[in-house]
Amino acid sequence: MTREFLPLCKPMIGEEEVTAAAETLRSGWITTGKAVAEFEEAVKRYTGASHAIGLTSCTGGLHIALAALDIGPGDEVIVPTYTFAACAHVVAWLGAKPVLVDVERATFNIDPEAIEAAITPKTRAIMPVHFAGHACDLDRIHAIAKQHKLRVVEDAAHAIGTTYKGQQIATHSDAAIYSFYATKTITTAEGGMLVTDDEQLAKRCRRLSYFGVDKDAYNRYTEKGTWYYEIIELGHKYNMDNIHGAIGCEQMRKLDAFIEKRRALATTYHELLSTIDGVQVPREQDYTRHTYHLYPLLLPRGCERQSVVEALREARIGTSVHYIPLHLHPYYQKTYGYAKGDFPVAEELYERELSLPLYPGMDEEDVRYVVGKLKECLRS
Ligand SMILES: *Cc1c(COP(=O)(O)O)cnc(C)c1O
Repeated sequence: MTREFLPLCKPMIGEEEVTAAAETLRSGWITTGKAVAEFEEAVKRYTGASHAIGLTSCTGGLHIALAALDIGPGDEVIVPTYTFAACAHVVAWLGAKPVLVDVERATFNIDPEAIEAAITPKTRAIMPVHFAGHACDLDRIHAIAKQHKLRVVEDAAHAIGTTYKGQQIATHSDAAIYSFYATKTITTAEGGMLVTDDEQLAKRCRRLSYFGVDKDAYNRYTEKGTWYYEIIELGHKYNMDNIHGAIGCEQMRKLDAFIEKRRALATTYHELLSTIDGVQVPREQDYTRHTYHLYPLLLPRGCERQSVVEALREARIGTSVHYIPLHLHPYYQKTYGYAKGDFPVAEELYERELSLPLYPGMDEEDVRYVVGKLKECLRS
């Protein structure tokens, strides 16, 4: 019997989500409304943040958070090179310059020393990314931000449930934005949420998420609503709808169980992989609770990664590589003059990294199977 393909990740959608989505579709109110408000409340309760705004994506949230901080032409925002395109694209969309910096070998996260070295009179903000669900060292980043009067917008796409020194990461910076894209720890297929403790910023972000209109769109169509509205500024169109909101409410109920399962599977990976020479497993620093959105393994130096990828695929195991550093992409090289060699740590991580399957629907036997096959590949 051939083994079923073990994907890198799989959305954990149950009958609860199916029912919630179907009920919303039948309800007569399918765009932004009560279900989104409930999802926002659930995220506020869970994270301790004072404000939460449901959005169509994390990317949109990063975009409006920077816009709400008045970042624009002539400004610079410091972004780690070891991340997804969203982080630097949103800076460029605003006419500002994404200034890429290197990351720490131990955590794959933005290197505080590299941040300091990249600060210029034009620097306005720092965008830490909590890679794979491991928190950045936020105290160090905030000390730098405070000293240089910079804003901090956290890309928390991987990191719902991640803690920093015992607190949810959501409550530390100007804003943090979660993603509910299909591969993330909880998912609404596509979706995101911005959290902040700053009331003025929250108000502005909500306005920017819907055309710059000064009140909630859905109030216009309720019994108590009026037809009148005013456009205050050039906003965008990033409001989450009720179908996604209803799915999100169900996913929030399962979040802690998902994280526990991810951590348990990661522990098994750590134990089994520690017997292989030359590999480096992701480590959890004592200031964070890692939520393992990914399991980023470093293969032995000099190992032919592509042959491992192919051998594992042959064994019906899906893997991926996170990430191709932004400074190696033609667009960033052409536009900002970055080149290979600019960020040696990120390049070494990129050369050795292999993300192994990890999602709550897996079991210990799957982990054993992956590690067994990986051992075979590395021996041959
Ligand atoms: C997934 C992801 C995003 C974008 O999230 P969307 O919700 O798809 O916009 C941003 N940053 C990182 C690091 C991501 O992995």
